[in-house]
Amino acid sequence: MDRLETTLRRIDGRGYKAYKDIEGQYDFGDFILRVDHVQGDPFAEPSRVSVVVALPRTWIAVEMHDTAVRVIALRDFVARRFARALVSVGRKSRGSGKSGIISIDRPGQEVLERSACMLGNGFVEVRFKVGLPAAGRRVLGREAFGLLFDDVPRLVKETFEPDHSEDAWAHVKCVEDADVARRQLADRGLVAFVAKGAILPRQSGIDDGPMQEGAVEFGPVPESFETNLTLPHAGTVTGLGIPKGVTLIVGGGYHGKSTVLKAISAGVYNHIPGDGRELVVADENASSIRAEDGRRVEKVDISPFIAALPFGKSTTAFCTADASGSTSQAANIVEALEAGATTLIIDEDTSATNFMIRDHRMQKLVAREQEPIIPFIDRVKELHSARGVSTILVLGGSGDYFDVADNVIQMHEYRPVDVTAQARKICAEHPARRANESATPLTDAAHRIPLPRSFDPSKGRRAEKVRSMETRSILFGTEEIDINLVEQLLDPSQTRFIADVMLHIHRNYVDGETALPQLVDQALQDVRTGSLDTLTHGRFGNRAVARPLEIAAAINRLRTLCVNVGHVS
Ligand code: ADP
Ligand code: MG
Repeated sequence: MDRLETTLRRIDGRGYKAYKDIEGQYDFGDFILRVDHVQGDPFAEPSRVSVVVALPRTWIAVEMHDTAVRVIALRDFVARRFARALVSVGRKSRGSGKSGIISIDRPGQEVLERSACMLGNGFVEVRFKVGLPAAGRRVLGREAFGLLFDDVPRLVKETFEPDHSEDAWAHVKCVEDADVARRQLADRGLVAFVAKGAILPRQSGIDDGPMQEGAVEFGPVPESFETNLTLPHAGTVTGLGIPKGVTLIVGGGYHGKSTVLKAISAGVYNHIPGDGRELVVADENASSIRAEDGRRVEKVDISPFIAALPFGKSTTAFCTADASGSTSQAANIVEALEAGATTLIIDEDTSATNFMIRDHRMQKLVAREQEPIIPFIDRVKELHSARGVSTILVLGGSGDYFDVADNVIQMHEYRPVDVTAQARKICAEHPARRANESATPLTDAAHRIPLPRSFDPSKGRRAEKVRSMETRSILFGTEEIDINLVEQLLDPSQTRFIADVMLHIHRNYVDGETALPQLVDQALQDVRTGSLDTLTHGRFGNRAVARPLEIAAAINRLRTLCVNVGHVS
């Protein structure tokens, strides 16, 4: 502490670069302060700082972190408490630029494994950013002293001194219940579960919090879909279980179909208490699929969905720099399956109509030979019977799907109704008359093996320049990867993590012999055996783990990606 104070005195009034001298760690008695990285100038990205507190000095009990899930939940909770402490300490301006500003990675509604808080052997670490104070470009030593000797200790105190254990336990238990519920799905023959009473609608298109006024709680649950799960903390919970197979969600416009589907899609993640979707869970490998025209596709076997394209263009190793609605949706499905998806989530709102359906009359007008598309309706059953991949589909516009659906749920004024029997009856009374267009059975896609030159993070004189923009894009070298429509990528920290993974694969694994899913797996294995720091080679507080599905999605959207199709030795 004294050493830091002396240094601050010494560099007071000097050029901003002199702040470099405070990098290092300092014993503050109640905690260790670490200045991990000092910013280059007052207007640059603020400096990275962390505090390390011995667990016995905190309210954290051993049982709060005695399983992997609890560790993730607890870390997430501590990061949120620190964020809350920031609000109460308030924002102080301590000079020009970003002087005096303290910030921590701001978690959303999901509980993710994040690097803003780490748990070590007997200690907890919180990572955040501070704007080291300056007047113009000169060091403001006195303000820096106030920031590091006054503001930071107050934040540490706020976070760890008052007994937050009750709230922490609520957080941990909430996450643990969701995790247990998700793990029970497969054995119960389900791909998703929506608890009775859940609040599914969100506050707005830009606010992911629960709708505050006028939200209709989920339920009542039709008896045929009623499922009771026994959870460690909530006990027996009743809800709607969506069985494996093909499930259709129908209903009039504005009756809440997409809202249910989005909640299910977010159910691959755990949510914070009060979110409304605490016990809405889905198969952890459920993947939202949509049309995404304009995207690039690199040698993807879309032949199960697109037979022959005009002018003999290959569809077993389909390439394009500008996919159409239908070909992009086909590629999205095949890539998701390659990355391990076991449930597909599809909404008519974001699908290509011609990919989803071709009805009797259209079949009459445009002959089979003139239409390359084998619509999804002719593959969806087979995906389940041959591959074990289930589909949850929102579709209000075509009853032809009744023929292929195992279950049909109608959303009526935001309430679920079982209409499976009615749909069956309609099938019998009004045959769709359309012909199945899948002439050949589903085949296994060949391995796609990325070539080393695919991954080039260099830009100009820099060997590696990688940056990410929220959840919209990743700048990888000179390439901008558009990931805006990768729907289950929710947190900007996940985007940063994916950028790390891509660099890690570039540095260590891509060899022209390993298939894409294995490359992703190798990188994630390194995170599992090490930590989030393994990829970054330093302490960064703004990373959060993403699934293999989203990592593969980003790589597949890299416009320089180049793969060999074939067999792996
Ligand atoms: P659909 O897909 O059937 O056309 P949406 O799911 O888009 O309908 O929902 C339409 C509107 O109703 C949205 O503005 C949504 O926020 C709202 N909404 C959905 N579910 C509920 C609910 N349970 N309670 C209150 N409002 C809801
Ligand atoms: Mg909709």
